[in-house]
Amino acid sequence: MGRITLEKVTKSFGEVNVIPPLDLEIDDGEFVVFVGPSGCGKSTLLRLIAGLEDVTSGDIAIDGTNATELAPAQRGLAMVFQSYALYPHMSVRKNIAFPMKMAKLPEDEQKRRIDAAAKALNLTDYLDRRPGQLSGGQRQRVAIGRAIVREPQAFLFDEPLSNLDAALRVGMRLEIMELHKRLTTTMIYVTHDQVEAMTMADKIVVLRAGHIEQVGSPLDLYHAPRNEFVAGFIGSPK
Ligand code: ADP
Ligand code: MG
Repeated sequence: MGRITLEKVTKSFGEVNVIPPLDLEIDDGEFVVFVGPSGCGKSTLLRLIAGLEDVTSGDIAIDGTNATELAPAQRGLAMVFQSYALYPHMSVRKNIAFPMKMAKLPEDEQKRRIDAAAKALNLTDYLDRRPGQLSGGQRQRVAIGRAIVREPQAFLFDEPLSNLDAALRVGMRLEIMELHKRLTTTMIYVTHDQVEAMTMADKIVVLRAGHIEQVGSPLDLYHAPRNEFVAGFIGSPK
C-alpha cells in the first residue's frame, strides 16, 4: 500500500525542461513534504504522480506496479487542491459523495463513508449546506472529506492551506496531521512554507529548479543542510 517510486522521471513543456531526471522513494505511510520556492516544480511533480500530467520520460511505480500508463482514476490516489475545487451547486454531502457516485459504490457504503468522513472532519452539521455557505476552513475540510471517502493509497495535497488566514492554517495543519496519524495513509504535501514543512513532515524533499537538493527528516535538514540553498530555506545558518 502507498509506496511510490519515481525513477529517472523527467518533464518538459515543449522545449522547456522543468524536471530533470529525478529519483525518489516514498515509503508506505510516510508524510512527505515537497518544499521549494515558487516555480521550482512542486505542483508539476505532484501532477505527474497523480497522472494529471504525463511524464516525458522515466517511470512512476505505485505499490510496485508501473503507473506511468495508468489514468489518474486508476492510480488509487486522491488529490486536494488549494482552490478546493468544490461544486458550488451541490450540497456538502453531494460534493463528498461525488467520487463514490462516479465509482458506482452501493448507496449504503456511500452513506457509511460520508458519515465517517463528516465525523472525522467536524462536518456533520454542515452536510446539507452548499460550499458558498461555509468558511474557507470548512470548504477545505469538505475537499479533504471528498478525498478520504475514496480510501486512497495516498493523499496528494497541493498547498491546501495557502488560501486560509494564518490562525486557521495552524489549526488545519494539526487536523491534517491528526488525520495522518489515524489513517496511516501515505501523504505527499506540497508547500512553499518552511514552517509547514518542518512541523508536518516525516521526510522533507527540498526542490530547486526541478531537482532535489536534499531529502531528509526535518532534524537532518536543520542540523546538516547540504548547502547554502537548503540552509537558507530550512536549516540553521552554516
Ligand atoms: P511550483 O508548484 O513549485 O510553483 P510548478 O510546478 O507550477 O511550480 O511550475 C514549474 C515550472 O513549470 C514553472 O516554470 C512553470 O512555469 C512551468 N509550467 C508548469 N506547468 C506548465 C504548463 N502546463 N505549460 C508550460 N509550463 C508549465
Ligand atoms: Mg504550485
